Amino acid sequence: MKTAIASSRPKVVIVGGGFGGLYAAKALANQALDVTLIDRTNHHLFQPLLYQVATAGLSPGDVAQPIRHILRSAQNIKVIMGTVGKIDVEARTVITHIREHPYDYLVVAAGARHSYFGNDDWEAFAPGLKNIPDALELRRRILNAFEIAETTTDEELRKAALTFVIIGGGPTGVEMAGAISELARRTLVDDFREIRTKQAKVILLDAAPRVLPVFTEDLSRSAQKQLEQMDVDVRVAKKVLTVNADGVQLEDEFIKTRTIIWAAGNAASPLGKQLGVETDRQGRVVVTQDLSIPGHPEIFIIGDLASYSHQTGKPLAGVASVAMQMGTYTGKAILARIGGNQLAPFKYLDRGSMATIGRHRAVADFHIIRFGGFFAWLGWLWVHLIFLVGLRNQIQVFFQWVWAYFTYARGARLIYRNFQPSVPPKKPRIPSEDLTG
Ligand SMILES: Cc1cc2nc3c(=O)[nH]c(=O)nc-3n(C[C@H](O)[C@H](O)[C@H](O)COP(=O)(O)OP(=O)(O)OC[C@H]3O[C@@H](n4cnc5c(N)ncnc54)[C@H](O)[C@@H]3O)c2cc1C
Repeated sequence: MKTAIASSRPKVVIVGGGFGGLYAAKALANQALDVTLIDRTNHHLFQPLLYQVATAGLSPGDVAQPIRHILRSAQNIKVIMGTVGKIDVEARTVITHIREHPYDYLVVAAGARHSYFGNDDWEAFAPGLKNIPDALELRRRILNAFEIAETTTDEELRKAALTFVIIGGGPTGVEMAGAISELARRTLVDDFREIRTKQAKVILLDAAPRVLPVFTEDLSRSAQKQLEQMDVDVRVAKKVLTVNADGVQLEDEFIKTRTIIWAAGNAASPLGKQLGVETDRQGRVVVTQDLSIPGHPEIFIIGDLASYSHQTGKPLAGVASVAMQMGTYTGKAILARIGGNQLAPFKYLDRGSMATIGRHRAVADFHIIRFGGFFAWLGWLWVHLIFLVGLRNQIQVFFQWVWAYFTYARGARLIYRNFQPSVPPKKPRIPSEDLTG
C-alpha cells in the first residue's frame, strides 16, 4: 500500500473531469504541485457524441474513458470520485460527502444541466441529454416506443408511439431529430412486422424563428432544408406551453406523443451560486479576464460554468473548445502565479463551429468559409474523431461509423432498465458519496 506523505507543495483542487477540468489537469501534469481532481462520475464523457448513444449508434464505453486512466501517467494528480456539495472559500476547502479537500488554488469546471425554465416537473416527461444515464434513458424510451407501436391494437396509441417530439432546435435537437429519423427510415425498416417504421413522425420544435440560431441565417436555412429532406417536420416560432404524459401542448395544437426529448435550455451547476459572486441568467459565474473570480484570485471558474464576456461583449458559448482552451489557460495561469508571474488575459481562439444533421448532412462555419452538406459532414466526422479521448475509442468509433455507413445498422439497440431489487432493502444505505453521476 502506498502511504501518503504530507507535502509542502501547492495544492490544486479541480472540480469536474469534463473538457475544462481535464485540460486544466493535463496542463498541470507532472509539475511541482499536488493536484486532486474530483468528479462525481469515474469517467470523462465526450458529450458531442452522446446523441449517438441515445439513438443506439454507439455504446456508452465508446464515448467515455475512466478519468484515472486518462491521467495515469501524471504522478502528481490524484483522481477522486465524489460529489462536491460545498465550497468554503474562506477556509479554502472543497467538501464532498466523505471529506474535505484543502486547496491553495481551486478550479471549478462542473458544467451545466438542463433548464426547464421553472417547469422542473416537465423533466419526467421530457428528459434531456447531458450524461450517460440520460442517454440510456432516451434510448430506452425511443426503442420502447417502436415496441409499443408494434404490439398495441389501439390505433391512437400506435400513432402516439410513432410520434417523436424534440423540443429545442440547437445542435443537440437537430442531431437527435436527424438520428431518430434515420433510425425509423433506414435502420429499423425490416425489423418489424405490424408497423411501418418509416411512418414515424419526427417533429422538431423551437420557439425561436430558426433552427441553429448560433449559426448564420443561411446555414440555419440549409440545416432546416436538410432536416426536411429527411422528413423531419421542423416547426419554428412554436412556443411549448406544457408537456405531460400524453404529449406537448402548443398555443394552437396538442401533439400526442409518448417520446419527448428536451434540448431547449441550460442551467449552470449550482456550485457557481455558492461562491457568492455575480452570476448571469443561466447561473454562470461572471469571471475576470484571467478566469478567476473577483476578490479570490486563487479560484478559477471555467467551461460551461463560466460567463466570460471580456472578448466580444457577449458570454462565450458553452462549447467544448471554449472549455478546453480555458482549462489549458488555467493550468498555465496557476503555474505562472506559483512562479511569481501573471499571464495575459484569456483569449479564446474561435476556429469555427459545426453541427451534424445526419448521414451526408451537416453545416460548418469556419468564418472564412461556410458550407453545408456532404463535405461539412465529413469535416464533422473528422473533428469529432480526433478530439475523442483515447485511441481505442477512436478506432472503435471509426469502424462502427464505417460499418453503419455501409449497412445502416446500429449496434447498440438494447433496451434495459437500471437494476431494481425484487425485494426492497429494509435499512437505508449508509451515507456515502453519491456515485450516481
Ligand atoms: C448532448 C451534447 C452535445 C454537445 N455537442 C457539442 C458539440 O458538438 N461541439 C461542442 O463544441 N460542444 C458540444 N457540447 C457542449 C460541450 O460538451 C460542453 O460545452 C463541454 O462539455 C463543457 O465542458 P465543462 O468541462 O465545462 O463541463 P462538462 O464537460 O459537462 O464536465 C463537467 C464535469 O463536472 C462533473 N461534476 C458536475 N457537478 C459536480 C459536482 N458537484 N461534484 C463533482 N463533479 C461534478 C460532471 O460529472 C462532469 O464530468 C455538447 C453538449 C451536450 C450535452
